[in-house]
Amino acid sequence: MINLAKEMNGVRTAVIAGHIRPDGDAIGSCLGLYFYIRENYPEVSCKVYLEETPNAYRNVCGVDEIRHEIDETEEPDVFFCLDCADEKRLGAAGKLLGKAKHSVCIDHHISNGGFGDVNYIVPQASSTSELIFTVLDEEKIPFHTAEALYMGIVHDTGVFRHSCTSPETMEIAAKLMRKGINCSQIINTTYYEKTYHQNQILGRALLESILLLDKKIIFSAIRKKDMDFYCVEPSDLDGIVQILMSTAGTEAAIFLYEIKSHEYKVSMRSKEIIDVSEIASYFGGGGHIRAAGCNMQGSIYDVVNNITLHMEKQLRKKQNEEKQQV
Ligand code: AMP
Ligand code: MN
Ligand code: MN
Repeated sequence: MINLAKEMNGVRTAVIAGHIRPDGDAIGSCLGLYFYIRENYPEVSCKVYLEETPNAYRNVCGVDEIRHEIDETEEPDVFFCLDCADEKRLGAAGKLLGKAKHSVCIDHHISNGGFGDVNYIVPQASSTSELIFTVLDEEKIPFHTAEALYMGIVHDTGVFRHSCTSPETMEIAAKLMRKGINCSQIINTTYYEKTYHQNQILGRALLESILLLDKKIIFSAIRKKDMDFYCVEPSDLDGIVQILMSTAGTEAAIFLYEIKSHEYKVSMRSKEIIDVSEIASYFGGGGHIRAAGCNMQGSIYDVVNNITLHMEKQLRKKQNEEKQQV
């Protein structure tokens, strides 16, 4: 556990940053901490750096204060690195990490080796937003921090549905609710609501999905030309992999989208058996046991073949263990 008051002692300038292609937890944890510092440390100049905000979060309070271009002359007293598994995934903000006098890394990625001066990494935590709550003084949490942290928890737990949701997660959500935030509005507008085009491309991904490995794995891919046709950005594809995995009987889902010719962003989700973080790490990415990602090169066929080989190995190992127990 870290002591935020200690990390803020004597600080005049603070920078907060999260991972590239920010999601609900990266945005929620960064804005949550930002509003807390602004409220409780008014003498501190605090800035948040994140890549472009996906459309789903456009109405979230504070997103217009997020900076997308870094000021390279800056030498912050403290740099908070949130929801980010490694330095590379900070993107441009990584340059400020090296210049900061002190760095604090708060994260829940199992693949995070701890690259800050101070590290608070809890892989069992549902989200970085949940971890941020635990380092704050509950009485001093302002309304907008409560909104942001609740949003982060909602997104990383798939609305309190994934196995990372613990009793502590629910207790923290309840405490945030008591700050008077509009929970159903946060859930509906940032998590469930999709544009017409997003739903069209989701339909396309579902239509073209295939079952592999004895129907235990569901797979789908979207090519660049399809993204152009439906006028969608990569962030518009968030959530597709989760919906693929709701298919009964599957153990894991693989979803790819083309970043450039012969390069794909891979998202993997798993229900109970497969450790997708191990597979993503093998291919240079990372994440969590049940949700992980990486970038891979080759044809769609190469990518899916390489991944399913690893999944098959894990499924077989589990089957053998079960046989030995009988
Ligand atoms: P995604 O499939 O992109 O939604 O990612 C699932 C989880 O894995 C998220 O927590 C991401 O932060 C993490 N993740 C995705 N891609 C990478 C990567 N290349 N390196 C490390 N972590 C990743
Ligand atoms: Mn994240
Ligand atoms: Mn997270």
